[in-house]
Amino acid sequence: MKLVTRSDLGWPASAAPAQATTKGVKVHYEGSPVSTKLLTDHDACIAEWKAIRKSHLANKAENYSDVAYNYAACPHGYLLEGRGIGHRTGANGNQALNQAHYAIVGLVGSSGLTEPTDAMLSAIRDGIELLRKNGAGTEIKGHRDGYATACPGGPLYDWVQKGAPRPGGESTPPTTGGGTSSSGTYTVKKGDTLSSIATAHKTTVAALVKLNSLKDADKLSIGQKLKLPGKATAPAAQPLEPFPGASFFHGGRHSPIIAAMGRRLVAEGCSRYSNGPGPNWTNADRNSYAAFQRKLGYSGSSADGIPGKASWEKLRVPKS
Ligand SMILES: [Zn+2]
Ligand SMILES: [Zn+2]
Repeated sequence: MKLVTRSDLGWPASAAPAQATTKGVKVHYEGSPVSTKLLTDHDACIAEWKAIRKSHLANKAENYSDVAYNYAACPHGYLLEGRGIGHRTGANGNQALNQAHYAIVGLVGSSGLTEPTDAMLSAIRDGIELLRKNGAGTEIKGHRDGYATACPGGPLYDWVQKGAPRPGGESTPPTTGGGTSSSGTYTVKKGDTLSSIATAHKTTVAALVKLNSLKDADKLSIGQKLKLPGKATAPAAQPLEPFPGASFFHGGRHSPIIAAMGRRLVAEGCSRYSNGPGPNWTNADRNSYAAFQRKLGYSGSSADGIPGKASWEKLRVPKS
């Protein structure tokens, strides 16, 4: 666990009312636009967390005793201390719904940065486990459970509904990226994002930022040449599964292609599986594929979890 404490943040002890036990933990998101700059700048995560506390303390109507959440989780996998262990959540924790659960906020929002990274999900999981050792029961809920709100947003809520599993499990090798050897370049085209380029070339945004010494991951210009890391390139010899057509994907379908697709979705950090992936087309396949589509920048009905030709070719499913 990578914990950033209140004293690391320069904050005094929390003035929030004490609460020794709850039924469990509720997951939140920011509910406002969050800059994708957070993906490449951890200082921006710390600044974001400090700004959240500041805005809560400035809210005189609700008279917050401290930042509303026990912890926050950033895209780099840091658990940022808020009220910490043994404190009620919300403004002052005098609402029954706030008293039922401790609270962890993922630093994702309603636009911009909307998809939690696997590192963020791991950090939320760290927070859940830490709170469970300190009085939290086993429930894991989203804010929208029991209250009319969009919080914690679609991607986090999907994950909560799966029981908030630690991404990848223990057998997944770490995806650290950051290969320094360069193998070839890529010329930026209209509509590209660093994330879509990283996905298409089997690397990470962080690796591309590092290799190309990019100052601002959000600012790419058309025609700009990017170095690509060598190490992470897929083996050229592996033949790929051609797109089987959207109608191939429906309930009841059983095929090794679906298992191979699922393994690639897991490798892309888009796993929404609690079991599998396996050869049967399930809702977990669809939710995982939808996460991959969102990762590529699709939204709405273009990210409905039914594979299309363009996203399929970017997924690079090996022939089974
Ligand atoms: Zn919330
Ligand atoms: Zn961070």
